[in-house]
Amino acid sequence: MWTERQVAANLQHLGVRAGMAVLVHATPQAIGPMEAGSATLLHALLQVLGPEGTVLVPAFTPAHRDPAERAGRLTPTGEAERLRATVPLCDGHTAPADPQPPGEFPEIVQKHPQARRSTHPILSFVAIGAQADFLTRQAPFHYPLGSESPLARLHQLNGYVLLIGTDHTANVSLHLSEIWANVPYIHRYATVRTGEATWTRMQGSPECRRGFARIEPLLRQSRILREGPVGDAKAQLMAQQQLVSMGVALLQGERSFLLCEDPDCAWCALARKMNADPATQTALRAEEIERP
Ligand SMILES: [Zn+2]
Repeated sequence: MWTERQVAANLQHLGVRAGMAVLVHATPQAIGPMEAGSATLLHALLQVLGPEGTVLVPAFTPAHRDPAERAGRLTPTGEAERLRATVPLCDGHTAPADPQPPGEFPEIVQKHPQARRSTHPILSFVAIGAQADFLTRQAPFHYPLGSESPLARLHQLNGYVLLIGTDHTANVSLHLSEIWANVPYIHRYATVRTGEATWTRMQGSPECRRGFARIEPLLRQSRILREGPVGDAKAQLMAQQQLVSMGVALLQGERSFLLCEDPDCAWCALARKMNADPATQTALRAEEIERP
């Protein structure tokens, strides 16, 4: 059974310090049994970061996306309406966060009395601490992980990314690299529920992250990762600015670097087409926009 004190000692050994702003991607189950469950991890983080520090976590709610769009162009009109009726209405504050990566950590953070949540139907963040307001206020609707997003504000604060029991497929800061490298596929649209009967097309939808794992050995070689255990879990701490810069450099060398290799991944196949041919890109974008 791991205690808060042991978890805090592991975090300090890894390099977490008082006053840092840290974006945490955690699978608490990987740590093993803790004295107060997943809350032990949050308490240990807040203890080490101190009153000047800030914890930030993704609280994504992909269930508010248009299921008819996901199902593709073959969805009959009546069926699209039926699918859309199953999507919950997002109030922007209390919607349960989808555990990404799996685990209840975002929910634990969200229930903290000092938690602040950014408003976005599908890509919101929750923060606790000195910079929580700065990180979460006035989050943009379009390009939700771009230059005005909580991710970019963390970058402004010289913040850190902490992975606990998960790999880089959870490392959403690399979407900021995609935006800043201006790869053609970042301008894609997604339709999301924004009101009782309102569906809004959002530009700059970040998609597949399965290819992100490819960056790990390069980060290690470049001494960007600090690695060690947190309980039974493997953990990695990195300066977000270094991570994002490396992502930008790699994408400038190869625009498809962060796309996955799964032949059945329709999204990455589309992204490769958009990368290869700007004309195709325009056509594909137009096709998406015109879809009812
Ligand atoms: Zn993919």
